[in-house]
Amino acid sequence: MSWNFSTEPEFEEKLEWMRDFVAREIEPMDLVFRKPGDPFDPRSPARKAMAPLKEVVKARGLWACHLGPELGGQGYGQLHLGLMNEILGRSRFAPTVFGTQAPDTGNAEVLARFGTLEQKARYLKPLLDGEIVSCFSMTEPQAGADPGEFSCTAQLDGGEWVIEGEKWFASHADMAEFLIVMCITNPEVAVHAGSTTIIVPRNAPGLEIIRNTAVGPKDEIGSGVHGYLRFNACRVPRANALGEVGEGFKVAQSRLGGGRIHHAMRTVGMLNKAMEMMCERAVSRVTKGERLADKQMVQERIADSYTQITQFRLHVLYAAWLMDQDKGYTHRVRREISAIKAAMPGVLKDVIYRALHLHGSLGMSNETPLMDMWQYVPEMGIVDGPTEVHKVSVARDILRHVAPATGKWPSYFVPDRRAAAQKKFAAYLGEEIMR
Ligand SMILES: Cc1cc2nc3c(=O)[nH]c(=O)nc-3n(C[C@H](O)[C@H](O)[C@H](O)COP(=O)(O)OP(=O)(O)OC[C@H]3O[C@@H](n4cnc5c(N)ncnc54)[C@H](O)[C@@H]3O)c2cc1C
Repeated sequence: MSWNFSTEPEFEEKLEWMRDFVAREIEPMDLVFRKPGDPFDPRSPARKAMAPLKEVVKARGLWACHLGPELGGQGYGQLHLGLMNEILGRSRFAPTVFGTQAPDTGNAEVLARFGTLEQKARYLKPLLDGEIVSCFSMTEPQAGADPGEFSCTAQLDGGEWVIEGEKWFASHADMAEFLIVMCITNPEVAVHAGSTTIIVPRNAPGLEIIRNTAVGPKDEIGSGVHGYLRFNACRVPRANALGEVGEGFKVAQSRLGGGRIHHAMRTVGMLNKAMEMMCERAVSRVTKGERLADKQMVQERIADSYTQITQFRLHVLYAAWLMDQDKGYTHRVRREISAIKAAMPGVLKDVIYRALHLHGSLGMSNETPLMDMWQYVPEMGIVDGPTEVHKVSVARDILRHVAPATGKWPSYFVPDRRAAAQKKFAAYLGEEIMR
């Protein structure tokens, strides 16, 4: 019997150490380094504050655990990584301190998988060591969820790619050493066969950052970490194609599997934190002569939140387990990942709203972490593809396996099924029932 919901004691010890380390050393950073780019930007003072913490993580053998041993990681499976990311989700800084910050994790994976020796030597090693930051740029101002509408092109001219077009919401573009850019290289065929991922150094001639964009209304226009880019006949060597020409989608797809599970588990970490706040508030606040915790409507919210978090967490861990079983991003893994991606904003919305509401005016204020968390609700429904697209994938995959009814009535039509059952059990049925 291989179903098991427990963690082996040696790994639980590591998780225990991580819980303490993240709470004691990393979570306080969220209180003082408040700029959107602080966890990633090499120019931020937070970078210096994180440096000694990264050394502690490396000495513990917990740095960049998503990597295989050949790249200096531990080769942990997705299930272990999921449990680790649940802890890292408690702080904006924890993924960087543990060397698992998106999009660098996915970019390192595709460089390792598709990169040439020269590309690996120049970009992969410093990326794995956490010395540089990278960017993955696909979305365009007029097209995100539908790549068929992409129009940023790259054409070969002599020994160089010449890139023309615009990209949008390219996270960390401004601070990145290099960008992996999805370009249309053959407009005559469908985008899945006619696009190529190309490595563009940040200082490549013709790469312009029109402005940075922030999530939410608070930061000034032009601030934030998501780049609005223009490629003005931007030239890079032909050898900068990452993977085969025309196979950009294969590259892009292969970086999303594990990353989405880790993202979802970090969301569980955030949900756990909101739940802890909600519970502490419920047993602390007294109104009309009793604690909030003694009021049935509050109890319902606590119970519903617990149930939703547990259901979501187990689904994410199931997807991680499946990925370990299949050793990759197989068909059935993709279905589960899309399902959890689609469920994520709903669980966040319900739980964070309840936690905010239970805190009354304090919840609305900037004096708890709850309003920061609230911003993630719409974000999680958009980033890595909108909810609708993932739901469509799940439904299509389920329906693909379903055969239509063979006759006039459905296969579960009771009169027909009853007649068949009566025949089967005729020896035991009296005249009355047979009629
Ligand atoms: C915080 C954040 C970070 C990001 N980082 C990056 C990054 O680093 N690199 C990058 O390339 N991109 C990045 N993105 C962009 C992200 O991938 C896109 O926002 C996403 O793919 C959706 O594209 P869009 O914004 O153009 O929305 P659209 O494609 O215009 O979709 C808008 C809405 O239309 C509806 N819709 C779209 N398609 C369908 C459909 N098939 N069926 C039904 N309804 C549909 C949905 O309601 C959807 O929310 C980031 C986004 C966010 C929010």
